[in-house]
Amino acid sequence: MRINAKTKFIVIIGDPVDHSLSPAIHNGGYKKLGIDNQFVYLGSNVKVTDVKKVVEAMRVMKNFRGLTCTVPHKIEILKYLDWIDPIAKKIGAVNTVVNEDGFLKGYNTDWYGAIIPLEKITKLSGKRVAVIGAGGAARAIVYGLILKEAKVKIFNRTKEKAISLAKEFNCQGGGLEEQEEIKNFDIVINATSVGMKPFDNQSPITTFYLNKKQIVFDIVYSPLKTMFLKAAEEKGAKIIYGTEMLLYQAVPQFELYTGYQAPIETMKGILYKSYEKY
Ligand code: NAP
Repeated sequence: MRINAKTKFIVIIGDPVDHSLSPAIHNGGYKKLGIDNQFVYLGSNVKVTDVKKVVEAMRVMKNFRGLTCTVPHKIEILKYLDWIDPIAKKIGAVNTVVNEDGFLKGYNTDWYGAIIPLEKITKLSGKRVAVIGAGGAARAIVYGLILKEAKVKIFNRTKEKAISLAKEFNCQGGGLEEQEEIKNFDIVINATSVGMKPFDNQSPITTFYLNKKQIVFDIVYSPLKTMFLKAAEEKGAKIIYGTEMLLYQAVPQFELYTGYQAPIETMKGILYKSYEKY
């Protein structure tokens, strides 16, 4: 055990959070760099009504170096921070809090997590991208896509939410009844929670509109290969797993918390290995 009284700790909070793979990938990264005596990454289930208490603890516990917020805390946390990065402000959500001696800084790394896996296989500028969903994750993804000059249309079950988000980011929005249009898009992203275990026999749209020219990205990562991705693969589309977003949102986070460059390949290996158990 290399942890000691000087070890700084980072905690992921959510409700629920037990399923989180973040402790495994961050701690694996610390070990690889030999800094597992300096940092440890933990997880704790926290009710949304208790987020303020966690922030108060951070202010007085100087070794409480970082806080990762997952569903449903990414918006609640905003009101308790001392400084919010302009990108996180624009997205309207924070998933990463860094404690600088009691001064709490908020960032959003989800947008980066979604954009890097796409950019590894395609240029985004001018591409037609269908984003299904208009929740917190969709906001971060749409921000990144617009930054990269993609042509975005948001499709959401609650049409008004899609239209309102589209207005904010100067793109198009509509309801799921318009989903036939998706056949003409270059990239299709599921940014809803549909397809997540235990409802993994569901798909966010009818897979009839997917085709082999498309890149299909599902940000749901439990299961690894969702029904939506299976169908896309059968049609010959290129697929991107939700784990890629999970990995790449952790990369800038790792660097913000520790000041060290993230050992991406090690973290990736740990992430995919964790699926072998299931
Ligand atoms: P959220 O803010 O609660 O938004 C949920 C979205 O899903 C909304 O657009 C909602 O539509 C839609 N939705 C939910 N149930 C639906 C249904 N039965 N049919 C159609 N649409 C439905 O959640 P979030 O934070 O955006 O997260 C969404 C998913 O992304 C979660 O599964 C989360 O685990 C995953 N995620 C993954 C990563 C990653 O790193 N891979 C990062 C962040 C989030 P309405 O507006 O109509 O309710």
